[in-house]
Amino acid sequence: MSDTFIKCKYIISGSKCDKLIREGAILIEGDKIIAVGREKEIKKFLSGHDKIDRLNHIAIPALVNSHTHLPETLLRGICDNQKLMVWLNKYIWPFEMQMSSEDAYYGALLGCLELIESGISGFVDQYFYAESIEKAVKESKIRALICPSVFDNTPESGSLEKTWKHVSNLVERKSKQNDSLVKYGIGPHAPYTVPKDYLLEIKDLAAKYSLPIHIHLNETKREVDEAIQNFGKSPIEYIHDLGFTEEKILGAHCVHTSPKEWQIMKDSNLTVLHNPQSNLKMTSGIAPVYKYLEQGIAVVVGTDGNASNNDLGMLEELATTAMLQKYLANDPGVLDNEVVLLLGSIQGMKTMGVESKGISDNSPADVTLLSLQRSHSWPQNEPLSNVIFSSSSSDVTDLLVNGEFVYENREHLTLDKWKIIEKCSKISERILTSMGK
Ligand SMILES: [Zn+2]
Repeated sequence: MSDTFIKCKYIISGSKCDKLIREGAILIEGDKIIAVGREKEIKKFLSGHDKIDRLNHIAIPALVNSHTHLPETLLRGICDNQKLMVWLNKYIWPFEMQMSSEDAYYGALLGCLELIESGISGFVDQYFYAESIEKAVKESKIRALICPSVFDNTPESGSLEKTWKHVSNLVERKSKQNDSLVKYGIGPHAPYTVPKDYLLEIKDLAAKYSLPIHIHLNETKREVDEAIQNFGKSPIEYIHDLGFTEEKILGAHCVHTSPKEWQIMKDSNLTVLHNPQSNLKMTSGIAPVYKYLEQGIAVVVGTDGNASNNDLGMLEELATTAMLQKYLANDPGVLDNEVVLLLGSIQGMKTMGVESKGISDNSPADVTLLSLQRSHSWPQNEPLSNVIFSSSSSDVTDLLVNGEFVYENREHLTLDKWKIIEKCSKISERILTSMGK
């Protein structure tokens, strides 16, 4: 890990993404940012640092994808136009049942390639084959909060009983691992797929090792109606009554929620993982994110898996978040651009258990650089507005994770891109052929 001095045309700095530095520089030593400011100020501290000139670039705090199922890259585009139950029963689950741990490893590597190229330094995952994902993440040298799925009938362990045995042993073992980049949580799929007895055991294990619980909540109207029918209460009330909200809960979606549930969310350690594009594509609805934020409920943004999105890019997801909330609130002023970037970067780091103040002194050195050499970047009347509303993932040229470049001048430094792409294409072809697709 070398010490680095990066010169940029603009830097979005500050713990609230609210400071714009023009003609700036970032000084990095080891895994930390040690100084940020105007280039002429920061230059005074230069001594033996690698000098990187990015004079036609903007630096932003690295993005974080706060909800995904990484090996689903293998399922990209296999089913775009079916209703949820057909999508699951005829495409997603039959495909997944034929995935081996090696397939999941390559699928996760493809996911890491895409995350890196999209300027994303870390992600929050829920999937089976957690150890294959961990292996891919470690090779990529990015961050992850890996939450092994607890779910019936997985290709990895089979029945729910065997899956829980495997996941509880794995999580217990991994919770003792002290890794600065990879952390573990537990991923019960949803209240409607995991029976109460298991949910209670999951809660106890999470409490014992202080692990976050990553669970799908209130994604569809149908799921909420069925919970009221089966349990006499909505999913968030149900898990609250089981004691889940005493722990750190990462609730994916939270699209259909009631004011009673908002109170629970507000009073507990629950973070909403908002996935607007997946919710639109699966016609689940629009989560009332602006209302959550008004009430002090924590929100971060993710993409969901590639089977339902179909990309992992966060800049596109943030633009969608902003536009949907403007529409929903019928108020274009409802979310400031600074808040939108915060939900997709610094808040995401917190969700992974990493304290960060973005591009500021003493923060972990996770930085994304975007090229300003595209026509859509000009003029730079409001650089942050351009980041949120006119840039795209393909503008990303560099990514630093924990002080190390993993992507430099659009070159991968940790992964063999075309070898991974070739391998993944063959895996998908093999599985789809056996499904008769
Ligand atoms: Zn999901």
